[in-house]
Amino acid sequence: MNRKEFLQKSLFGAATVAVASSPLAFTSCAPAKKSTATLNLSFQEGTAPGKSLNEKFDYMEKMGIVGFEPGGRNLANRINEIQEALKGRNIKVSAICAGFDGFILAEDPAVKAQFDSTMRDIIAAAGELGSTGVIMVPAFNGQKPCMPHTLETRAYLCEQMHELGEYALKHNTTVILEPLNRRECHYMRQVADAAAVCRDSKSAGVKCMGDFWHMQEETSDYAAFMAAGTEYLQHVHVASRGNRQMPGEDGEVDNYVAGFKALKEMNYPHYVSFECGCKGEREVSLPAAVELLRAQWELA
Ligand code: MG
Repeated sequence: MNRKEFLQKSLFGAATVAVASSPLAFTSCAPAKKSTATLNLSFQEGTAPGKSLNEKFDYMEKMGIVGFEPGGRNLANRINEIQEALKGRNIKVSAICAGFDGFILAEDPAVKAQFDSTMRDIIAAAGELGSTGVIMVPAFNGQKPCMPHTLETRAYLCEQMHELGEYALKHNTTVILEPLNRRECHYMRQVADAAAVCRDSKSAGVKCMGDFWHMQEETSDYAAFMAAGTEYLQHVHVASRGNRQMPGEDGEVDNYVAGFKALKEMNYPHYVSFECGCKGEREVSLPAAVELLRAQWELA
């Protein structure tokens, strides 16, 4: 066998192995599995126009918005108000957005104790409202003094998250870690990192989420969501990707197709919730944003 023949044989062999071992080769031959996922859109409390919860929910129902994400502050005292306003509607509480005092990685025991008690109150209320979970960030850059970014701190975080997750399960809900970006939080900046903390916390009550606005440090929205998968991905936030306004208000950069493709492929059952400002007229930008997201979901 001369060098040319050897090379041809080796390349042919390599190609055969590549075809046989590549999952893409199989999926391209097999009929594509139809996703059963639907785009369950949710609004935070400030997103819809309206003076009262009822006015906001009327507006949301007309647009087919099925989730509501209130802030966690004072939630225990708002359970009745929220339950009454949701009665008879096709809207459910999607997730609860933070609202606790203190933070979990606080060095000051008093600040950590504040977190422990206020977070547990919110978790209990979230359970009563049927929420998928309570969103939390381990530490914002501005929160000091904070435990150092070390292996010991990560082990401590996992241990603390385990306790919190087990507490949440008792209340039929979860805690949802939200990765941010380095301008806001050095500790947790990618969805896969948050998912790994979920895994290492060893509690089914510890979940994570992705926020299209914060996901600036991901190289792929698709891979980021896939890394968490349905085992850990419990919530998604959406905003325009240039200035955190209404999806679509930043033009071409507001592309969610790759992320949506992952959500569809994994049959993501939860919500995509608006967490954003509004640059233009809300009555114009908001319906346009909903329409844009639905069109991109179809495209994905
Ligand atoms: Mg967010």
